[in-house]
Amino acid sequence: MTDQTHHCTANDGQNESPDNGSMADTSFDYDVVIVGGGPAGLSAGVFTARADFRTLVVEHNRSLLRKSAHLENYLGFPAGVRPTTFLEIAQDHATNAGCVYVSGEVVDIKHAHSEDHSGDAPETGAVDSGFIVSTADQQFETRYVIVASWSDCSFLDTLGVERGTEDGGHVPIIEVDADGRTSVDGVYAAGRITDQHHQAIVNAGHGAHVAIALIEEVNPAFWNDWVAIEGYYDSYDKEVPVGVEEISHEERERRIRDSRATMRRYFGEHSVNEPEDAMR
Ligand SMILES: Cc1cc2nc3c(=O)[nH]c(=O)nc-3n(C[C@H](O)[C@H](O)[C@H](O)COP(=O)(O)OP(=O)(O)OC[C@H]3O[C@@H](n4cnc5c(N)ncnc54)[C@H](O)[C@@H]3O)c2cc1C
Repeated sequence: MTDQTHHCTANDGQNESPDNGSMADTSFDYDVVIVGGGPAGLSAGVFTARADFRTLVVEHNRSLLRKSAHLENYLGFPAGVRPTTFLEIAQDHATNAGCVYVSGEVVDIKHAHSEDHSGDAPETGAVDSGFIVSTADQQFETRYVIVASWSDCSFLDTLGVERGTEDGGHVPIIEVDADGRTSVDGVYAAGRITDQHHQAIVNAGHGAHVAIALIEEVNPAFWNDWVAIEGYYDSYDKEVPVGVEEISHEERERRIRDSRATMRRYFGEHSVNEPEDAMR
């Protein structure tokens, strides 16, 4: 875990993520592929990318949130926010953090490097072998997968990820433990698909939780994804922990100015460039 490459796109170099001791196994295209770019998947991506996991989000443009008329219970938006604007901001947040974002529908996931190409787990163990995530026209090799989709999960049939149904009905859900681990090593799931409550902030929080659990599993030294003022830890006679970034007062001022300008672009009177709501 030594690669310090960042994968910033829209905000390259502006908000450098802390040096977390990233993954360096370049035998995979990505360290983690996230299936689904709704609140859960994008939130997970913010954390994995900031921890220097090379992160791909594959998104099919069908978030449940597009059906909401107005999002009024997401902390931080006191007058509510248009759901499509929220998704646009969340997507930009994930790409600014370093995620690569691809539009497409995942149709299959199988174990990579299985001797007989059957997609079954090889002897060496699933996590070592990684996974091949397929859309109709692309394939991505990855060490880990986070499923944050909804609701058809037939793309997990090959892997045989254990599933159940919501309230014993027909809607499929993925069985997970308290940290989002599924029945298949290396495959995690987050958000609504794991039967969390039906609120965007809950699903985003769950995505963050699952991502941090994965980060901690890969890098047990990881402490917190925090930004603190330069000298904070020194004042306690401590080393800056893995995951924490210390910044100067000048850098803090610069980031605050940038963040204000960025939010004005989304909400300023002449900034309206909003995608069509799916419900219309
Ligand atoms: C009518 C309605 C109104 C709502 N109103 C509110 C509200 O006011 N406030 C609130 O907090 N919550 C509201 N919700 C709930 C909220 O939308 C969900 O809690 C939230 O969107 C779930 O987040 P998620 O990321 O788990 O799932 P989703 O937002 O559904 O995201 C899953 C993503 O996975 C993608 N995906 C699925 N399959 C694939 C695949 N095979 N390959 C690639 N991508 C795939 C989809 O395109 C989708 O974007 C409402 C829901 C509905 C239906």
